[in-house]
Amino acid sequence: PSATRTYDRVLLKISGEALMGPQGYGLHPPTVARIAQEVRSVHDLGVEICMVIGGGNIFRGLQGSAQGMERTTADYMGMLATVMNALAMQAALEDEKIHTRVISAIPMDQVCEPYIRRRAVRHLEKKRVCIFAAGTGNPYFTTDTAATLRANEMSCQAIFKGTKVDGVYDMDPAKHAEARRYDRITYDEVLQKHLGVMDASAIALARDNRLPIVVFSLDEPGGFRGILAGKGTYTIVH
Ligand code: UDP
Repeated sequence: PSATRTYDRVLLKISGEALMGPQGYGLHPPTVARIAQEVRSVHDLGVEICMVIGGGNIFRGLQGSAQGMERTTADYMGMLATVMNALAMQAALEDEKIHTRVISAIPMDQVCEPYIRRRAVRHLEKKRVCIFAAGTGNPYFTTDTAATLRANEMSCQAIFKGTKVDGVYDMDPAKHAEARRYDRITYDEVLQKHLGVMDASAIALARDNRLPIVVFSLDEPGGFRGILAGKGTYTIVH
């Protein structure tokens, strides 16, 4: 896989924290608007776009369970948080005049569409951005796993994981000046070295289906479009 190939259909995964901007919690509307512009610039190229957004800016299941709540209950709260983020992103994309559907793994018909694979594929063919919400619909999973699952189901050519750093490093670049970025790395190396790209189930699911993961910085304006054209710095997990 190479980031210089032409992409027809991709999945953009961002964490919930990516939407909170300089705040320590919740949604920061100017930041959500900026990410919507990043998506629009790729949509303008005719690329079909799926999105999965985390929920960590509002609620993280493990934190809830650490405070004594049953893990499954806390995880459902985390999944609901991703629906709120998806609705915020939908509103911001509509401000950019992009047709968008929020598609939830947990049916909530008054709020968004339930997940029906063929219907989602049809939306993509019609160039609607599909935001997949509520993770996989199951506790004990993460939105990284949900992203890998949906990217496989939608036959995406790659997952683009937008983060705060421009790729995968051998150690935390915020703490170690000598940290080195990988241009390419295999799924097995990521697992063996415990590099925090995605959780192990997500990496294994991508590996078993040969789905490349491109890690890049979302803080770079124009970064998403640039990465699709093979510009800028990034890491390909393959
Ligand atoms: N979650 C879950 N099942 C899923 C996806 C998410 O239970 O399939 C819950 C889990 O509690 C997780 C929370 O939703 O902590 C938010 O998702 P995640 O931590 O992946 O968000 P991110 O770190 O990307 O913001």
